[in-house]
Amino acid sequence: MINSIIIVGIGLAGVSAARALRDEGYEGAIHMIGAEPDLAYDRTVLSKKLLTGELDRSPEILCATWYEMANIDLIVGTRVSSIDISRHRVHLESGESLTYDKLILATGADARAMSVSGSDLNGIHRLRGNADAVEFQKALKPDQALVIVGGGLIGCEVATTASSLGANVTILESGDELLVRILGYQVGAWCRKELERLGVKVELNTMVSGFDGDSSVNAVVCADGRTFKTDTVLISIGAEPADSLAREAGIACDRGVIVDACGMSSSPDVYAVGDVASWPLRCGAHRSLETFLNSQAQAVIAASSILGKGVPTPQISTSWTEIAGHRIQMIGDITGRGELITRGAVDGKVSFTLFRIVDQVIEAAISVNATKDFVAVSRLVESRVPVQTKVLQDSSFKLGDLLKAKSVA
Ligand code: NAD
Repeated sequence: MINSIIIVGIGLAGVSAARALRDEGYEGAIHMIGAEPDLAYDRTVLSKKLLTGELDRSPEILCATWYEMANIDLIVGTRVSSIDISRHRVHLESGESLTYDKLILATGADARAMSVSGSDLNGIHRLRGNADAVEFQKALKPDQALVIVGGGLIGCEVATTASSLGANVTILESGDELLVRILGYQVGAWCRKELERLGVKVELNTMVSGFDGDSSVNAVVCADGRTFKTDTVLISIGAEPADSLAREAGIACDRGVIVDACGMSSSPDVYAVGDVASWPLRCGAHRSLETFLNSQAQAVIAASSILGKGVPTPQISTSWTEIAGHRIQMIGDITGRGELITRGAVDGKVSFTLFRIVDQVIEAAISVNATKDFVAVSRLVESRVPVQTKVLQDSSFKLGDLLKAKSVA
């Protein structure tokens, strides 16, 4: 009998788990404990509408009355200091402690820190939460020199927004291409050219060795001796799963809480969902996926599993972004063995999908400005329907018909 479920973390994953528990008919106590003062909000606007000033705060995922109606015990602005898995207790910084039958860790991820000299100077920003975005927005002005360290999703989304506001943007990326983790080399290189068309300067293979300035930054110094003058810097060099509570409690972790395909950790009454969870993937790997859609899906799977109705579901990474005015949607890992083929036009009026195919099965795909195709693309990846490359490359052929046919020989 489950009487008390504690959810640590009031972000997208935590609130999705709470909602799924109530939707599944669980009527016992739900305690949600979050370090941030805010209710769960949509982080996807942080690099976009919040920076342009179109929004002054991120929209809440569920309004305050939902938590009341769903009878959730909300404890915001409070950190959990430790978990005692043998006694099924959670200790809060305030000195309070609470008992759980099941515990869901949804603590998310933290912005990766940069351990070089001067990284705590004023004028150096990170973009993880509402408060960061509000501070950063104040610094963005037309003709402002902005140096972005890290050319991944945050870096490239912010470069897009900041250049639309008239800032002079330079991205310093340590790798040999932008966005490789999520988009691979081909689409990463294409995005770089699109950003450069907007006037963004991109420096690849560039390591930052420090930041100069007294109390405020005035230059970024690189390991090869170059310096970039600026009083505004954004550091966006990746995320680290916030798994320290679990590690200290003796739960197995490896860059995230290791869970099975139902979300259960090495401690059977402790589950993990969202960025903090290292979840099994369909391709056989195990890792934190750091995406909105997978966080939501994992929360629903874990909630059903806790209530005895779960179906083990290895994940396929799925996400979207907006870079240089293009809508980019991705499913699966585009980097890996197999063949890369393109459907649609890469030059001219841009709308294309890149597929990675192994033994006639689409393992991954990225669609650029092809939102209609992407619905069928996702279903093709999920269903593993065998396909022929020449059919995929034929833009006159409707991808949805491949699903109807089940197999096109
Ligand atoms: P990221 O992993 O997307 O990109 C980090 C980039 O920084 C990589 O290109 C990496 O090579 C580079 N890098 C690493 N160390 C560096 C260094 N010392 N100097 C220069 N470059 C360095 O991470 P992010 O952009 O920081 O985003 C953080 C998190 O937010 C991720 O989990 C991401 O998935 C999430 N996010 C998602 C979206 C989306 O889904 N649309 C948008 C924004 C952020």
